[in-house]
Amino acid sequence: MGKGISGGYRVVALEEHYGDPHVRQALGRPESALTRRLEEFGAARLQDMDQTGIDVQVVSHSAPGFQALTGAEAVALARTVNDRLADMMAVAPDRFAAFASLPTGDPEAAADELEHAVVDLKFKGANINGLTQGRFLDEPEFRPLLARAAALGVPIYLHPSFPHPEVSRIYYGDYARTHPMFETAGWGATVETGTMAMRLVLSGVLDEHPGLQFILGHLGEGIPYLMERIDETLARDTPMKDFRRYFTKHFSVTTSGFFSDTALALCIAEMGIDRVMFAVDWPYVSNRAAVDWFSKVDIDESARHRILSANAARLLGL
Ligand code: ZN
Repeated sequence: MGKGISGGYRVVALEEHYGDPHVRQALGRPESALTRRLEEFGAARLQDMDQTGIDVQVVSHSAPGFQALTGAEAVALARTVNDRLADMMAVAPDRFAAFASLPTGDPEAAADELEHAVVDLKFKGANINGLTQGRFLDEPEFRPLLARAAALGVPIYLHPSFPHPEVSRIYYGDYARTHPMFETAGWGATVETGTMAMRLVLSGVLDEHPGLQFILGHLGEGIPYLMERIDETLARDTPMKDFRRYFTKHFSVTTSGFFSDTALALCIAEMGIDRVMFAVDWPYVSNRAAVDWFSKVDIDESARHRILSANAARLLGL
């Protein structure tokens, strides 16, 4: 049971990461202090959760994960990796839930892997890290995957990844070297992931699947702040007359890595209290930083309960 921030309910954190060493090796990434933290799945992770009052981590593979892997090997590896995660979570089954890794380079296989993860492993949805070989998720080839998520009734977490090399070259140039966070968490990730979300709204896929649900971290990747502007301008000269309605019906946002009272208040106002959920973005951000911030946020107990627990329980079926 959470200590400190909860009022007697389970505190659920939605964007908490782990890493699988076989994925790291497939990506050719070296071991580091960070990868060792990501790959640890036991006492150290649980102790950090206990000390900060986080009852449940909904874990997902760190970026870029399977969105940077292709071919039949990636399909087979995703099955192994999801099965291994299910085994690791068994050390404390009431403390962990999971979003599946999907081999989106093969969308039909990704749809099948999502079904395996949800039906057989009881995972709660999927996490997709950015573009798949330069392709956004609204492209027609991914429709089988979106259809399967809708049929299974599970959300897809749209997580940022590293920018496309051409975007990096044209938009960020030398700044990517002198100010690395500019093209990732400081700005570029928001632009790319927000674009992913907007393209999904504009694509018409939400009319095909009225129950399809997505989650955005980082308090909605800027979209809640821009909602009125986006809604009004798209309506001027396109068929999209009600962006706001689509976005607030099909998207939820989390607090991952963005601990601002003013941004949270804006998200609650624009999205509604049922569409905002707590997340840390562990281990890139500390549990302590998230919990210390949220414990001081000036909201009533009902709102606190929904953000920390009830909204996630409803959306994920926890
Ligand atoms: Zn993250």
